[in-house]
Amino acid sequence: MKLWRLHPSDTQLEDTQIFQDICDALSDGKLVAIPTETVYGLAADATNGKACASIYEAKGRPSFNPLISHIDSLEAAQTHAFFDDRALKLAEAFWPGPLTLVLPKRPTSPVSDLAVAGLETIALRVPRSDVMRALCKHTGRPLAAPSANLSGRISGTTAEDVINDLKDHLSYLIDSGATSVGVESTIVSLVGKRPTLLRPGGLAREDIEAVLGETLVRAGTDDSAPMAPGMLTSHYAPNSHIRLNAEDVAEGEALITFGANLPKGSDKAAKLVPLSDSEDLTEAAARLFTALRQADLGENGKIAVMPIPHHGLGEAINDRLARAAAPRD
Ligand code: AMP
Ligand code: MG
Repeated sequence: MKLWRLHPSDTQLEDTQIFQDICDALSDGKLVAIPTETVYGLAADATNGKACASIYEAKGRPSFNPLISHIDSLEAAQTHAFFDDRALKLAEAFWPGPLTLVLPKRPTSPVSDLAVAGLETIALRVPRSDVMRALCKHTGRPLAAPSANLSGRISGTTAEDVINDLKDHLSYLIDSGATSVGVESTIVSLVGKRPTLLRPGGLAREDIEAVLGETLVRAGTDDSAPMAPGMLTSHYAPNSHIRLNAEDVAEGEALITFGANLPKGSDKAAKLVPLSDSEDLTEAAARLFTALRQADLGENGKIAVMPIPHHGLGEAINDRLARAAAPRD
């Protein structure tokens, strides 16, 4: 891991060699810890599924929460999501700043399925941090960045916190001292009928309500409010019935494969959808949501999934598959 210490008086960051090197590392799918005004972010190219998988791997997250994509401007944000009048008002009032907007994702957005956990919505934020915005702009990519800490630990607000938790996973750490806001961004969803507070954070609810001219519903408290963050991972599920740890395949089933040793009956499968032929769990995680969608045969369809090992990212993959296979009402 290489360390870049920034000082408040530093300007023209883009002209330095290390800035260029960090852009190259991000474009190459590497992980970089970047300070924002809220907390330090563990950043990777949001359009690269494998890079996003390595975020979950580094954090040791046992499930795939969708990630916030950071961009450098409202204009860039509009290429990824549909903005209605409320979204425009909030973005104009509070960006750059500690507000994340959850919006309908444009089908043309290149943000990976894993970054949005297979959802048709996307969480976007233009941060106040100059270096984060400059990196988004110069790489030309949205950067997915959850807090730079191990899963279950508190969010890192200093470079020392980040080093303690993640140093072996990072190619660069940008140190600009303690973050100014110190708590995560406020997350507002504009996907349902009523604007909904998904997570309180660095921007006060009252400030948001003043601009919107209406109150924010708390997640999950109202039929018109989208689900709370913890419930999100159970949101997307294929229509087909799912059978896990399949040791054989029945005629007409779609088979999600892992590794090259296919089970009995594979030749009769309706389709084969590989997660990773080389048994690489990072690749499998990156492909998971796309694979579920591709394997889906509709209402009376059946999907069989080969066993996935439980170690490393396998835990999160199996968690997601178990949710997808759980009986629904
Ligand atoms: P963080 O842990 O700071 O990366 O914040 C991630 C949180 O943002 C998730 O747990 C969700 O609450 C929210 N979020 C991110 N992406 C989406 C999305 N596509 N749809 C709805 N909520 C999202
Ligand atoms: Mg966090």
